[in-house]
Formats: sequence, structure tokens, C-alpha cells
Amino acid sequence: MGKFISESPVALVIGASRGIGQATAERFLKEGYVVAGTHRGSGVTNGIHGIECDVTTPGALKAAFKEVAANFGRLDTVIYNAGVARQDLLVRMRDEDLRSVMETNLFGAFAAVQEALRYMGRAGAGSIVLISSESSRAGIPGSAHYTSSKAGLDGLVRSAMWEAGPRGIRINVVAPGPTKTDMLAQVEDADLDALVGKSPLRRIAEPEEIADAIFKISTLTYLTGALIPVTGGEGLGY
Ligand code: NDP
Repeated sequence: MGKFISESPVALVIGASRGIGQATAERFLKEGYVVAGTHRGSGVTNGIHGIECDVTTPGALKAAFKEVAANFGRLDTVIYNAGVARQDLLVRMRDEDLRSVMETNLFGAFAAVQEALRYMGRAGAGSIVLISSESSRAGIPGSAHYTSSKAGLDGLVRSAMWEAGPRGIRINVVAPGPTKTDMLAQVEDADLDALVGKSPLRRIAEPEEIADAIFKISTLTYLTGALIPVTGGEGLGY
């Protein structure tokens, strides 16, 4: 860690350029955190310390953590939000698409958890939240790479909690349901209507509502190893 130590808690949001990650970074800022957020060239909201980082580039996440440590001297919360979705039936799925989804959604999360444990372990405290998807349980045709990558986060957290807990670090997974972001723009209108129809709340989430859950879950002091669905009830009633 650097010589300067921030008096305010420090959060690092990986994938903070838009959508749920941007809303989450803004929420932590509003709560009085010093916030660092990664992007891939498009920048982050004013007031957030932007760090350029493509999670699929070897060493990029390590460098991002190092930059946070050098600038702020502490790290309290890490949110791994970076994610990509693709639509490919299994019989047509190309290796490069499978690899890209796995590298971004799962391997990136592994690297982030490893770095977070290294930095937070020294302080003996911290909270990590990984962003999964409710679809990892129900499945979606054409999304086996996406749902497998997200299901992998569950396994990661279940083992990581045993290594993290004795060092004062909590780690949880938030699994959002359909949320109004660019990612959902890939979904056809008719499919979107069907999703709304299956939701007990009869609507799709705003990114700020998912950010609210992520913030609160990250601060719950006796919660670790949990997978929390934030879906408006979708996927839970049958
Ligand atoms: P967006 O597509 O709006 O945002 C995705 C974010 O991930 C962006 O910040 C993007 O950065 C970042 N990202 C993607 N690839 C990389 C990479 N290689 N390196 C670094 N950053 C990367 O999606 P959402 O906000 O909707 O999704 C956020 C998370 O929530 C994802 O993990 C997604 O799987 C999950 N989720 C979303 C749901 C939804 O309905 N929207 C439902 C369930 C889960 P950049 O701007 O540079 O592309």
C-alpha cells in the first residue's frame, strides 16, 4: 500500500463505465466512499477515479489493484461486475466466443478475488461482491457459455468464503434478474414482454435498484458465501 491512507473507505468497481456497474460506483460515491472504477477507454462518472482495464488482458487487473493501493492506501470493498453476454446455440458456438465469455465473466472474477484477498488480507477486513445472473439457475437457450460462466461464480464464492472468512473478509454473489441496461437491448421485445409477464413485480429492474442491493449486501457484516437473487421474484416462485 502507498504512504497516503484514505480516511474514507475505498471501493473498487470493476466494470464501472455503464449499466449496473456505473450505478453501483455512483452509489458508493454517494455513500461517502472513495471510489475507483475500471473502464475500457470510455471513462467513468465524474468524481470516480477511472482506471483503464480490460479484464481479459493478462496482468491488467493486478495493475488496477496496484493503482488503487498506490493512490488510496486501503481497499475496503471490491465489486466484480464486468460481464459479457452472447447468443450462440451450443451446436454453433465458436471456441473464441466461449473463451471470451469465460475469460471476462469467470476468469476475470478469479483474478479479482485473488488480488482482493491479497490486499484485504493485510488489513484483516473487507467485502467482495461478484455479479452473477439469475439465468445461471434457470438457463436460457443460446446462453450456455454465459450461464456456465455465471454458475462458476457460485463455486468460486463457496470455496473463497472458507479462505477469506478467517481473515475478516466476506464474499457474496448478487444474481440480478433482467435489468434495463445495454445488455438487455440484445433481447427481442417479445422476449422482454415474456420476462415481464413472469415477474411477480411485473417489471424489469432499474440499474439503480440492483446497485442499491449490491451496496447494502456489501455492508452486511454477518453475510458471507451467499448467493442473493435480486430479481423482483422472477425465477423463485416455481
Ligand atoms: P452492460 O453491457 O451495460 O455493462 C457491462 C460492463 O462490463 C461494462 O462496464 C463493460 O465495459 C464491462 N466489461 C465488459 N467486458 C469487459 C472486459 N473485457 N474488461 C473490462 N470490462 C468489461 O451490462 P450490465 O450493466 O447489464 O451488466 C453488468 C453485470 O450484470 C454483468 O456481469 C451482467 O452479466 C450482469 N447481469 C445483467 C443483467 C441485465 O439484465 N442487464 C441480468 C443479470 C446479470 P465497457 O463499457 O468497456 O464495455
